[in-house]
Amino acid sequence: MNHREMLEWERLSMRYNENAIPLYLSYPVESFWKQRSSLEQHNQSLGSSDISFLYFHFPYCKEICHYCMCYKEPLRDDSELDLYLGYLVRDMDIRLEILKGGGWRGATHMHWGGGTPTLLSLNQLETIHRAISDRLEFNLDGSHEHSIEAFPDPRIVTPAKLELLRALGFNVISFGIQDFDGRIQKVINRKHDPGAVRELIATAKQLGFRVHVDLCYGLPFQGINELERSINEILPAAPNRICIFPYAHAPMIFPRQNIIPRSSIPSSFIKALMAEQADRLLISDGYVRLGLDHYLDAEDPFLKDLSTSGSKTLMGYSQNDKLNYLGFGATAISFFDKSFYRTVSSIKEYYQTIDADQLPVEIHRSYRHNPDDQLRNKLIQDHVLTRFEIDLRRLEQEFDIDSNSYFKDELESLKQFENDSLVDLSDPDFIRVSRTGQFFSRHIAHQFDRFYKQASLQ
Ligand code: SF4
Repeated sequence: MNHREMLEWERLSMRYNENAIPLYLSYPVESFWKQRSSLEQHNQSLGSSDISFLYFHFPYCKEICHYCMCYKEPLRDDSELDLYLGYLVRDMDIRLEILKGGGWRGATHMHWGGGTPTLLSLNQLETIHRAISDRLEFNLDGSHEHSIEAFPDPRIVTPAKLELLRALGFNVISFGIQDFDGRIQKVINRKHDPGAVRELIATAKQLGFRVHVDLCYGLPFQGINELERSINEILPAAPNRICIFPYAHAPMIFPRQNIIPRSSIPSSFIKALMAEQADRLLISDGYVRLGLDHYLDAEDPFLKDLSTSGSKTLMGYSQNDKLNYLGFGATAISFFDKSFYRTVSSIKEYYQTIDADQLPVEIHRSYRHNPDDQLRNKLIQDHVLTRFEIDLRRLEQEFDIDSNSYFKDELESLKQFENDSLVDLSDPDFIRVSRTGQFFSRHIAHQFDRFYKQASLQ
């Protein structure tokens, strides 16, 4: 990037401040899930849904990272894990009874996240996996993704644990690294040694796992050089997928982030430059970009039909654009029959609800997509944030609309983005996001968000 381009990116970053825009993990974003569903509606929807993806949440962590945006609790004693696993099985029994009552055909994909699921001992891993497979029929021939998030510490993820996970049928392992820089790690309360992480990746690959790693940009005290160094530390290990997520500093929602000095967070300009530099490095190393933050190697199963398929969901990217998923465990989220449901939001409440033989779901904080939400969800998540182009004719056919009149206001607001060379509006069939526009694409998506627009009018 030359000096003139840099000044232009500074101007764009001030106009389109990425720190002011939601990450769009879902549409609508979770703070707008405020509908009150009923138990009958939930059960009827669950019983009639074709759930193909199961998520299991393991909320315990050895130590808590200050930047973390997940639901987690510090593990004080191993017995806490045994207790939690017992409730997880009871949670499964409650929901599977509803699901199986509707003639469910079984799931194909499974993901274990957290927290730190790899904190489970070998015995605990085997026990909970057996409890799951006794209740569910999974195809373990490797044709479907069974994935697990792993803390990249060889004292936690031992070779024996990796071997067991592989034997249990897990074929994707995802190591959360964030950044290797010592100062940054100290401020966010993590500690990873690049050499040890590379060895872990090598062992996992030898065992036949596809290995994903997560890095983060926008962390406290992080600059372009630090991110570049972390990428260069990880590239020799040749992970199959590298995800580079933006850090969102939101201490109002995640109070622990108050430990992080606010002025150590890079500006939206520096964050944009970091994302751009990461993109250059990874593309030049042979990775293919998927959406905002995923970089895939040449063997990635997702590469097939990348230009036309692919859907962004709360569970990451999926090749199934009608993905229904069911989450088990405290705070796990589910999506089925066009509706988001959230499991109760603390371990204590989770135990109390299950002890009362009740469904551990926050029925009063759900959200059901109406036809307009379905259209906007598809446009935001699949067209803008996955493929960086809006295929207007395809949306018109799928949703029976006239895009010019339906999106009159949005198309008007995109003219400013066109003047800034972030989108190309010249083709009546497509709105295409430019390469620079890709780094501001959440702002482009935001133009189509009816919830924020309505909130700003109130
Ligand atoms: S970032 Fe991961 S390991 Fe750290 S507290 Fe959050 S869930 Fe736990």
